[in-house]
Amino acid sequence: MRYHTHIATSIAAGASVAVGTDVSFTFPYVAGIVIGSLLPDIDEPNSYIGRRTFGLSKVIKSIFGHRGITHSLLACGLIFYLYQLYSNEFMLGIACGYAFHIAGDFFSKRGVPLFSPIIKRKIKSPLTYETGSPSETIIFYLAMVSCVYMLYKYQLYLQLI
Ligand SMILES: [Zn+2]
Repeated sequence: MRYHTHIATSIAAGASVAVGTDVSFTFPYVAGIVIGSLLPDIDEPNSYIGRRTFGLSKVIKSIFGHRGITHSLLACGLIFYLYQLYSNEFMLGIACGYAFHIAGDFFSKRGVPLFSPIIKRKIKSPLTYETGSPSETIIFYLAMVSCVYMLYKYQLYLQLI
């Protein structure tokens, strides 16, 4: 999944969380989601975030490989643990965005090593899309439309201000 699709699907999923729970769709929450939705790809130097880490992503990739442990439930759990330590809307957004990224990659053809480092095999959904394919473009636009729908239907935009 390309970075803008990760951002769009994660914001849409984050908006659903705000609609279905007492979480508010505030600016820090949304900013956290955007950052969290890009964070797992820090293990790929050519990714949107990887190109902005001043070489750190090269080190991470050389140790763990791309779509390695950063795309596991363990990493996701660690981020949620950080949220327990620093409980604020921004950290909640990061944790949710991180989880949504892994969910997004789970539906890609390559899958994700959910149980890394114990089981390194990549696991994927039975229903998948190919990164950069027309189906990903459709997912991107569906996410955008559902975002706009939820923003107005549930007046989430009022919480952003
Ligand atoms: Zn990824």
